[in-house]
Amino acid sequence: MKTAPDFPDVNYNPPSREPSVWSRVGSLAMYTIVPPAVIASGCWLAFGFAAIAPSFLCALGIDLIVGYAVNGYQTVRLEKIRAELMKAQMEYERGHMVGVSCPQCGQRNIVPLDLSIDGFECDKCHTKNKLYYDFRAASTMDLNREEVMKAAEQRMAEMDSRTKNAWDSMNEVLK
Ligand SMILES: [Zn+2]
Repeated sequence: MKTAPDFPDVNYNPPSREPSVWSRVGSLAMYTIVPPAVIASGCWLAFGFAAIAPSFLCALGIDLIVGYAVNGYQTVRLEKIRAELMKAQMEYERGHMVGVSCPQCGQRNIVPLDLSIDGFECDKCHTKNKLYYDFRAASTMDLNREEVMKAAEQRMAEMDSRTKNAWDSMNEVLK
């Protein structure tokens, strides 16, 4: 029995490693404190001691705004990529996958529409199930309602006249 291969799950989130306190302090210093400090040092050398505080605060403000904007942009971009992946998976499933209920627990499983696959393992209870395909055909010929009604009326009239004829001939015999 060949079972369905596992389909990659786009909702999968890699286990996030909690950053340590020191790495947090490090990145805070690196990206938030160091650039304004460098700018403030430059302003100190260029314009004297009084320039340190205003230049540091100004650079820190710009740094925070830019950091916030970049972070927001990246979040939006990641969300967009995730949404596109989900859409692609849904479209793929619509064309290449089929939903089947597990005969053991009733859980709906999505299996590939592939005639070489004749089994699947349930996502929930892990029972190995055999898979049978059942295909049916139906005519797509359009039925014209008026034509159908006319044909039915004609058939009724035919049956009527046959009954009448039978009645008449019976009366004929009984006369
Ligand atoms: Zn099951």
